Amino acid sequence: MSDPNTCSKCGAKSVLKGEIGLRTSKDLELIMVVRKDHGIEKKVPLQPRVCAQCGFVDLFVESPENLKITSSDKPVDPGFKQRPLLEYDF
Ligand SMILES: [Zn+2]
Repeated sequence: MSDPNTCSKCGAKSVLKGEIGLRTSKDLELIMVVRKDHGIEKKVPLQPRVCAQCGFVDLFVESPENLKITSSDKPVDPGFKQRPLLEYDF
């Protein structure tokens, strides 16, 4: 990401300043990032950037490292038929 104040859609330097949170309307659960290939859900806070000019919302994660699948990650559904981990998963 080059300039955090520049909208990556319209190019205006009007990304809203300050921390912006996202939450669901019913509870405080974090938005889940799901690796569907593995049936694994990862809890990673999504950080939104909102452009005040065009309304474009950018999302990025604080710790992308956490989205990598490791051998200790287990599918949420115990019946999930896991395909073997491949080199490109890491
Ligand atoms: Zn914009």
